[in-house]
Amino acid sequence: MTLLRPEQIDAAPLVALIREWVEIETPSERPDLIDALLDKVEAAFEGLPVERTRFPATERGGQLLLRYAPEGCEGPAITTMGHVDTVWAVGTLARRPIVQEGERLFGPGIFDMKAGSCLAAETLRRIAAEGIVPPRPLQVLLTGDEEIGSDASRALIERLAAESAMVLIPEPSFGPDIAVVTARKGWGRFVLRAHGRAAHAGGNLFDGRSAIHEIARQIIDIEGRTDRERGLTFNVGVVAGGTRPNVVPAEAEALVDMRAVTTAEAEAEAAGMLARTAFGPDVRLEVSGGVNRPPYERTAAVARLFEATRRLSESLGMPLAEISRGGVSDGNLAAAMGTPVLDGLGCGGGGAHAEDEHIDLSTVAPRAALMRGMMLSEDFLAEALG
Ligand SMILES: [Zn+2]
Repeated sequence: MTLLRPEQIDAAPLVALIREWVEIETPSERPDLIDALLDKVEAAFEGLPVERTRFPATERGGQLLLRYAPEGCEGPAITTMGHVDTVWAVGTLARRPIVQEGERLFGPGIFDMKAGSCLAAETLRRIAAEGIVPPRPLQVLLTGDEEIGSDASRALIERLAAESAMVLIPEPSFGPDIAVVTARKGWGRFVLRAHGRAAHAGGNLFDGRSAIHEIARQIIDIEGRTDRERGLTFNVGVVAGGTRPNVVPAEAEALVDMRAVTTAEAEAEAAGMLARTAFGPDVRLEVSGGVNRPPYERTAAVARLFEATRRLSESLGMPLAEISRGGVSDGNLAAAMGTPVLDGLGCGGGGAHAEDEHIDLSTVAPRAALMRGMMLSEDFLAEALG
């Protein structure tokens, strides 16, 4: 039997494996620990006909690519991409161990996104262990620096996405109906630096040019561009400047976060940011930054992939909803290569990046069943790829 309904999948061993992944703490800043988890994952594939490629860690985490392409499958691969790094420092687990309360399993990094990445790797492992020949080569890429911008893994993500038929992202799903994600805003980051002129606040105030005053005007102007209807937002999240109360500040800076729904708008707004000049006389403004992740747009190909997934999911007894998100993922990078992407395929739960981070255990078997179906169903593939 190739396809499985959720009730045919025993969640207990999957949950046990997810716990093991969470027990190895993997903050993005610790490539050695990320490597330790990837070693463990790789070891589970020992003896199976799955190609394993390690991209070694530098000062950032390394990556592991698993590829299962037995004789009989052909064409561009179905590639699942998940990160194994978390935002939680070493020691979080000691303070906040894994705890089950009813149907909820709490643990640092469990929802974003160890549960999803673990299910993807384990689904691939089981398919290979059962000797099933999938219609397409199957790949699972595990990365270790998503939470800090994917600088180390970006080139690999982009290359694999460009070569693949579709990219599946088991990031957390949302809401009581565990909706998958079919659009994400793009994300830009900017640094504004104002250079004014220092002066004595009592002696010669009017000879000074306040860099803080300049940055304040910039903040009002930049945040004023936020357009809730269009989903365009600006947030100045950090400001710094000045030295002492009695000195006109010569230097000040602000860090800006921008979100936009379409690539065209993200690019236009980024160009506007970089072209900004000072309001005040004798003040110089320097702007650096740009679009870090382009929007993941709900293109016709994404809509078709979702529709095929929804029908597959229903045939396995699970209705499927979709949602768009403001937060970015590596799905943004994959989508920018023009490959259809479906995101939010991980477990349901809540509390991403928060103290109450948890998964909903009732979603483990359904998500495992859906991932398996997407990797194996010929009908799904035919429908999704048109
Ligand atoms: Zn994530």
